[in-house]
Amino acid sequence: MATAGSKADIPKNLLAQIQHLEEIFTVDTKKLKEITNHFVSELAKGLTVEGGSIPMNPTWVMSFPDGYETGTFLALDMGGTNLRVCEITLTDQKSEFDIIQSKYRMPEELKTGKSDELWEYIADCLYQFVETHHGDCSKMSEPLPLGFTFSYPATQNYVDEGILQRWTKGFDIDGVEGKNVVPMFEAALAKRGVPIRLNALINDTTGTLIASAYTDTKMRIGCIFGTGCNAAYMEDVGSIPKLAHMNLPPDTPMAINCEWGAFDNEHVILPRTEYDVAIDRDSPRPGQQAFEKMIAGLYLGEIFRLVLVDLHDNNDVQLFEGQDIAQLRKAYSLDSSFLSIIEEDPFENLQETFDNFKQRLNIVCTRPELELIRRLAELIGTRAARLSSCGVAAICKKKNYESCHVGADGSVFNKYPHFKARGAQALKEILDWPEKTDPKAEDPVEILAAEDGSGVGAALIAALTLKRVKEGNM
Ligand code: BGC
Ligand code: MG
Repeated sequence: MATAGSKADIPKNLLAQIQHLEEIFTVDTKKLKEITNHFVSELAKGLTVEGGSIPMNPTWVMSFPDGYETGTFLALDMGGTNLRVCEITLTDQKSEFDIIQSKYRMPEELKTGKSDELWEYIADCLYQFVETHHGDCSKMSEPLPLGFTFSYPATQNYVDEGILQRWTKGFDIDGVEGKNVVPMFEAALAKRGVPIRLNALINDTTGTLIASAYTDTKMRIGCIFGTGCNAAYMEDVGSIPKLAHMNLPPDTPMAINCEWGAFDNEHVILPRTEYDVAIDRDSPRPGQQAFEKMIAGLYLGEIFRLVLVDLHDNNDVQLFEGQDIAQLRKAYSLDSSFLSIIEEDPFENLQETFDNFKQRLNIVCTRPELELIRRLAELIGTRAARLSSCGVAAICKKKNYESCHVGADGSVFNKYPHFKARGAQALKEILDWPEKTDPKAEDPVEILAAEDGSGVGAALIAALTLKRVKEGNM
């Protein structure tokens, strides 16, 4: 299909495998539509008192910015690979801001370590940042306001609360699930003597939505396609039965962090392969994040690896025949950038792919094997992009958005080859858009690169929260 050249020289056994992989990894238009329709009803279900598999968490972010927000705020982003601390000044000029930031490594062992160690490490990084940019922490008269981007599913009864529902993205730290993370975080700050006051706990998707809306008034949805995947959008309180007890006017806006990674946890609609089943089974949280495990950056390389190991071990195929694949057997040893390289490699010689397999995995590939590898990467990357669009299309359908902008961020969106084009193609198929007469014209729904959600977005949410408190609205 997308690959050039002829498959004539590929041995029959490999060709049969390529065809089989194409069958199991391809999601056609009809299936995309079915998934989307089911997604729409699951979004609504998540908003009810009984709930569904998608958490649909109210975030207490209750307005879009108008561009005139001002003030200086700290923002902390606890990501999977980095810990980023920013200081953002929302300036007097409309939709303008200044930012300074520092990145700290997020040590791998912290992700599965002890809760205290995690919070102490974070407090240390914040301490360093404040000392560097504001001088002696012990001499500061006023605590600095902070927006904390905590990108995991959390229940919030207030904007400055976050009860962790469950860890995702491979994190597994005891004693945090089911608890409010804010007091743990604040205790570590107090112990370390960091003069910071947490104003808002936010999800990266909500931050992305708000940051993008700051500079583009057509923005309606914020998405992350990165290590994990998820989206946020603005709902009306009247459509959120689980908030009925709050007695808010029905047209009150409320940003919802969907946590759509949990879509289809009951496994009724997604076309999971045996490899998806294996990833789930061997993950720290089996049965969780079914959608995310087919799409997000953390898993793409692992799906790819599992297929290759299987084809090697299958006697009828014998991929990499006679070679020692010990390196390839290591779980999670290939990340999505490994697939990006394969997808970007010129098809004529697939030289970089060959070199990477040789150097990183000690496997010498034949030309037919290289072609299978390339096709497999395309299939996995394409499936991820197409399934992602089901979520975007579902929110548009639920909200009757015929045209809008969607702000997207994350390593897969920003770096994975063809992800955007494949996603746009799938949206077109799902939403039945006619062919464009002017090829340069925008699509009705455009997924665009977002503004910095966990920096600017967090600062804006902290600012909007302060404003709401001042005006006396909860
Ligand atoms: C988390 C979400 C987050 C997403 C993207 C998921 O694993 O549950 O809260 O928004 O990853 O970072
Ligand atoms: Mg992030």
